[in-house]
Amino acid sequence: MKIRVIGGGLSGCEAAYQLARLGYDVELYEMRDGEKSTPAHKTTNLAELVCSNSLKSVANDTGHGLLKQEMQKIGSLLLECAYRCAVPAGGALAVDREQFSHEVETELQKFNNLKIIREEVQEIDETIPTIVASGPLTSEALSKDIDRILGQENLNFFDAVAPIVDASSIDFNKAFFAARYDKGGDDYINCPMNKEEYLKFYNELVNAEKATLHDFDLKVFEHCMPIEVMASRGEDTMRFGPLRPKGIRRPGSDERFYAVVQLRKENTEGSAYNIVGFQTNLKFGEQKRVFSLIPGLENVEILRYGVMHRNTYINSPKVLNEAFQLKSNKNIFFAGQMTGVEGYVESIMSGMIAALNLDKELKGEPKIIFPKESIIGALQRHLVDDTEDYQPMNANFGILPELENPPRDKKERKLAYTLRSLKLIDEYLSR
Ligand SMILES: Cc1cc2nc3c(=O)[nH]c(=O)nc-3n(C[C@H](O)[C@H](O)[C@H](O)COP(=O)(O)OP(=O)(O)OC[C@H]3O[C@@H](n4cnc5c(N)ncnc54)[C@H](O)[C@@H]3O)c2cc1C
Repeated sequence: MKIRVIGGGLSGCEAAYQLARLGYDVELYEMRDGEKSTPAHKTTNLAELVCSNSLKSVANDTGHGLLKQEMQKIGSLLLECAYRCAVPAGGALAVDREQFSHEVETELQKFNNLKIIREEVQEIDETIPTIVASGPLTSEALSKDIDRILGQENLNFFDAVAPIVDASSIDFNKAFFAARYDKGGDDYINCPMNKEEYLKFYNELVNAEKATLHDFDLKVFEHCMPIEVMASRGEDTMRFGPLRPKGIRRPGSDERFYAVVQLRKENTEGSAYNIVGFQTNLKFGEQKRVFSLIPGLENVEILRYGVMHRNTYINSPKVLNEAFQLKSNKNIFFAGQMTGVEGYVESIMSGMIAALNLDKELKGEPKIIFPKESIIGALQRHLVDDTEDYQPMNANFGILPELENPPRDKKERKLAYTLRSLKLIDEYLSR
């Protein structure tokens, strides 16, 4: 049976490999042919790493380390290629990017049933089983066709994300639950500031170091103001915007605040919160330093840093199920960054899971949904977590359900997440 994979990037190459290995006739379309390209890719290589050459941590007390171990149990080609091309990088898996692409292409070329076609796909043929893996910089024509299939309101073109933090690392001696004018129960966590604290925060924020935006990013952000830009408009601008203190009271007290930073629930369990209105382009280290000046967030653990960049991604909770499959057409699967997973390894993982589930669909067998205690399973559930404002997510322990008896020591707690996940993955795979 013929299967189409659109996009020879990280998720598309992994998906094509899994399907070819399972015996399907795979057509892998990649538009970068020397003439056409995206604003970020520099070569015609398959599986090109567009920016950093790091696939992040391998340590087993990190979300990224755990994701890699989970993927190794299932059998990921791209991860295996990455280990073969590793360059020394401390606790991280960094690769020689040229060699990595070469390894991936060589492995794919070994399959007689896999054809690599250097051509832009402009329309999705909905009668052919297909995985759309065209990435955050999907070509314009294909974006239009995805619009047609999903409806315009289900396609986003940029990512302006506020940092997401681990709720258990917030200091509730200072922060408190309450909603403005008591409307909405205890939906928000509030971090109150006095004048001195506010001014110190304001000064550090306006002088903090920013990340460089690409020209193609700048165009899309004309209408979206990062918190540091808002702050630079004047000392009080934030106090009349997201930090306004009006109507916010600590339960049982009449104390007035000079400014209040609010955090809103990021997941249904309430283990992760985003900082309201804090979309930012500060460098990651600067986000940690400056946002730690907010009372209650002194030791906060940032699960996902704020970012601003161009990113085509779909509103997965509305249109996909946990198998990365389109609800409205069982033939079509999506994979990669465009589904709302964020990062190189997360994208590879989604290509693998989408492909395995397409196989299940074609065989009429139950779909592969990993336990929610694993990073893969939690990211599958993130796809269908119908929050108001769906945002991409990376591998971190904050998306996992709480441990039953969490060790007090932080490192031990993280190891406990890892051990729990790997045990459940083994049990799942053995079934
Ligand atoms: C500028 C930028 C920098 C990033 N830096 C990092 C980083 O440092 N670390 C990290 O972990 N993540 C980073 N990411 C996020 C993400 O991990 C990568 O974008 C990753 O490559 C996503 O994998 P993917 O398979 O979804 O898309 P891609 O790897 O981009 O693959 C999509 C492929 O589809 C092709 N394509 C597009 N349209 C068509 C079409 N119509 N027909 C045929 N082919 C098409 C593209 O040419 C591309 O090869 C970055 C993203 C961007 C945009």
